Amino acid sequence: MQATIYRSTGSWYTAKTTNGEIFQARIKGLLKRDGDITSTNPIAVGDIVEIVVEDGDANAKNAMITEIAERRNYIVRSSPHRKNQKHIVAANLDQAMLICTLKEPRTSNGFMDRFLVTAAAYHIPVTLVFNKKDIYKEKELDRFAELAAVYEDIGYTVCLVSATTGEGVDELSASMKNKTTLMSGHSGVGKSSLINRLLPGLDLRTTAVSGWSGKGLHTTTYAEMQDLPNGGKLIDTPGVREFGVIDIPKTELSHYFLEMQAYLNDCQFNNCLHINEPGCAVKAAVEAGEINMERYISYATILETIEEKSY
Ligand code: GDP
Ligand code: ZN
Repeated sequence: MQATIYRSTGSWYTAKTTNGEIFQARIKGLLKRDGDITSTNPIAVGDIVEIVVEDGDANAKNAMITEIAERRNYIVRSSPHRKNQKHIVAANLDQAMLICTLKEPRTSNGFMDRFLVTAAAYHIPVTLVFNKKDIYKEKELDRFAELAAVYEDIGYTVCLVSATTGEGVDELSASMKNKTTLMSGHSGVGKSSLINRLLPGLDLRTTAVSGWSGKGLHTTTYAEMQDLPNGGKLIDTPGVREFGVIDIPKTELSHYFLEMQAYLNDCQFNNCLHINEPGCAVKAAVEAGEINMERYISYATILETIEEKSY
């Protein structure tokens, strides 16, 4: 029977079949899976699996996972347990939304750009959702306009919402219709408040038993999926401090700064890292104002963190 993984605790998985039945499933024996994935978690939220109901246990709704379908895509971060290993956050995504704020607290560009690099590496379109519009003054609204121009120009979708007043939430909800959307953001940006608006009836901060990554109640490192009223699926990820850029060799980093792609063939050296090399078309584009300087600084900063590892 085919099912989709909605939740994982590390050893047990909540799997929902196409007709809506829910099973608590475990992995048994050898699992057929995508060969090139070496992660600390074999199955992630969003995975499509084959399950077999356990003998004599039809009422307890327990099942064995016997097979995992090839993933359309997935998003990773470094394992919470083993830094250099990948942890699959979620699989089979249509899009990701990064909740950001310009105030109380302010999301750094570096944080956004790391997330965008990770998503680009796995071919997942991203919407940057700026929350807390209700408290933005002219300064923050100007900064929003500036950032929106930069990121929209690169090809990202950017929007401005308020979980408090509900402004922009209907549009956000409409953009999630019939899609699987991963929602992420560092803690305090209002992700739970937004999800409460998108999923009326589910109060994240009071649903301790559901295992949502509420503060204090559960400090799960796993994502969870919920069905949205309009046919979409929402994957909430626990508040991440950082999306590490994993498994990206330094010579490839510029491929995931999507606005740099058009210049890469024009660099004098084909292994150009766009830092000090002569004849660098990327640096020329930065100097000409064609590539945003802040994005370039993010690039250089992320590149340094990769250099510390031994690629
Ligand atoms: P999370 O950590 O991202 O899940 O954030 P929460 O939803 O718990 O919100 C963190 C804090 O920000 C809470 O005090 C919320 O009331 C507040 N908050 C969330 N959304 C908004 C918003 O749109 N405007 C304002 N002013 N505060 C908000
Ligand atoms: Zn270059």
